Amino acid sequence: MDFIDLKSQYRALKREIDARIQRVLDHGQYILGPEVRELEEKLAAYVGARHCVTVASGTEALLIALMALELKPGDEVVTTPFTFAATAEMIVLLGAKAVFVDVEEDTANIDAAKIAAAITPRTRAIMPVSLYGQPADMDEINALATRRRIAVIEDAAQSLGATYKGRRSCALSGIGCTSFFPSKPLGCYGDGGAIFTDDAALATAMREIRVHGQSGRYNHTRIGVGGRMDSIQCAVLLAKLERFDWELERRAALGRRYNELMAPLAPRVRPLKVRPDRTSVYAQYTVRAADRGRLESELKARGIPTAVHYPLSLHQQPAYAQHYKGQSFPISEKLAREVISLPMSADLREADQDAIAAAITEALRVAA
Ligand SMILES: *Cc1c(COP(=O)(O)O)cnc(C)c1O
Repeated sequence: MDFIDLKSQYRALKREIDARIQRVLDHGQYILGPEVRELEEKLAAYVGARHCVTVASGTEALLIALMALELKPGDEVVTTPFTFAATAEMIVLLGAKAVFVDVEEDTANIDAAKIAAAITPRTRAIMPVSLYGQPADMDEINALATRRRIAVIEDAAQSLGATYKGRRSCALSGIGCTSFFPSKPLGCYGDGGAIFTDDAALATAMREIRVHGQSGRYNHTRIGVGGRMDSIQCAVLLAKLERFDWELERRAALGRRYNELMAPLAPRVRPLKVRPDRTSVYAQYTVRAADRGRLESELKARGIPTAVHYPLSLHQQPAYAQHYKGQSFPISEKLAREVISLPMSADLREADQDAIAAAITEALRVAA
């Protein structure tokens, strides 16, 4: 059993993917070829944003978004400590400060009620993360940001396709950033990412920053990066988009089914919650287990792969800890001790899910 089954997906889409890649090899426009624009147009329409700018990765999407906002050393960005490092890393890389706000225990997303207290005159943006595929409380976050005249960047690396009150992730705030890392819900066969916005001036800035700040050939009007997504990766995604909606339905159904299978195991194993006004694309299907270490090893012994997203709150990571001395984010720290993700992908079979649930039941009995 794979933790994330990418091989079945390739087998199902092989003809389209191979043909799309071959077309790039034939026309030879490996960088900024026609596939790039085609993908940007399709994705913008899909999420409901006016502009989509593809970039080299999800990390690069965050960096370019922050650069387009002209984030400066000494500025602050409010975000969650319970996330992948890239979220805070790009803020810090630009010399700004990542100000952490603790998360909600039942969703693991940033606690919107605690954000106001973290805002100072130096705050330039709020960066909520749609963790495991579920958007945070975006209405509350947007309302607060509007009042304080600051930007909102959704780190939607895990949530492309999710909805919030009927609208799609990546188009829920001024800027949305996503990732096409192979294991994300919409993954390419290398690195890739995209930024979404309705703001034409920001979109232009992002397009220029993506190619070394060029507003025309060899006319460098701002400091940029080499941050393009290549044509072959865009071609792979164009082929994968064909069955993306089916994949999202499968993920939703498997998520519901996991919830049912886990229900009898409470309180020793408890799934995270999805709020009724939004959906999760289950980039990860994650549960909380008081005795996680034991569960991990018992499942491993039974051939069930698992992963921990994430084993430490960012303020506890060696590279960050020195800057957060004396600060604690107790819920984030607790979740870091308890969370464990189970195998999930659109091609996961119900029979495998049953086997996973049976193995967890057995593991809990052994550990009792
Ligand atoms: C994956 C991920 C990123 C980074 O995306 P890459 O494409 O791997 O650079 C950023 N933030 C979160 C929350 C992620 O899960």
